[in-house]
Amino acid sequence: ATPTALLVGTGRGAQLGILIKGPEVLESTRRVDTVVLDKTGTVTTGRMALVDVATADGVERGELLRLAGAAEHASEHPIAQAIAAGAAEAGELPAVTGFANVEGLGVTATVDGHAVVVGRARLLEERGITLPPRLTGALAAAQERGHTAVAVGWDGRARGLLVVADAVKESSAAAIARLRELGLTPILLTGDNAAVARTVGAAVGIDEVIAEVLPQDKVDVIRRLQGEGRVVAMVGDGVNDAAALAQADLGLAMGTGTDVAIEASDLTLVRGDLRAAGDAIRLARRTLRTIK
Ligand code: ADP
Ligand code: MG
Repeated sequence: ATPTALLVGTGRGAQLGILIKGPEVLESTRRVDTVVLDKTGTVTTGRMALVDVATADGVERGELLRLAGAAEHASEHPIAQAIAAGAAEAGELPAVTGFANVEGLGVTATVDGHAVVVGRARLLEERGITLPPRLTGALAAAQERGHTAVAVGWDGRARGLLVVADAVKESSAAAIARLRELGLTPILLTGDNAAVARTVGAAVGIDEVIAEVLPQDKVDVIRRLQGEGRVVAMVGDGVNDAAALAQADLGLAMGTGTDVAIEASDLTLVRGDLRAAGDAIRLARRTLRTIK
């Protein structure tokens, strides 16, 4: 490949809103056959909102929001921000002590003297808290709608459920269709629940979903696919995607994502528009065909 043609390719990329780390990236881009997509912030907007609240017997809605909102206030996770913002609308949030983030699961903190746990039901179970039937029912119903249900407990008991919803980006379905036209297999990868993942997948035309994957395990999913002989591109936006983006044969970061994700990637989709992923692969194929 002549350096000039590659540079023209990278220049054309810039016009399409694709930032390419170096001309040599085009070579791996061309060979990609599988595209793994992170869900939150990549296929969906990542701008979540609190849409529903369910309480356990004897728990006041206001108190549930106050304690959960305060605990989540210190977290940068999009789910946490939605809960903190929704709770702040209902009243002022108290200060917390001993805040801890449990990657891919939730948060813990002490609020008003209560040991509060907010996150996946699995996190509460790990802390010895089981959800009563009323809350597991609400949880299943929320997930069936494609919403994310976050459990709240304190002092060893389940106290309620907060439902946050995230919209699928308008351009995602068209972006997936474009990948398929190029002969690529899309796979949705998420730490979120399987029911949510399937609902979001169905909305954008992805039937292969890998769900409930902890942030540190996303990289293993990429390795496993590579072990099957696939050439894998990964598209992500979060700190939790960085290792997988670096491991993939081609890492694509959303320009709207975190710096860590962008640094770990070969390509950045500047406008955060997923359709640029297909553009990048088409561009690489064309550029290298011209050269050969
Ligand atoms: P994704 O892979 O979709 O970007 P994450 O790996 O960041 O998602 O999180 C996986 C799941 O863990 C979330 O869907 C949510 O259920 C739970 N979770 C993570 N962090 C928090 C938090 N701060 N508060 C509540 N739930 C959380
Ligand atoms: Mg994400």
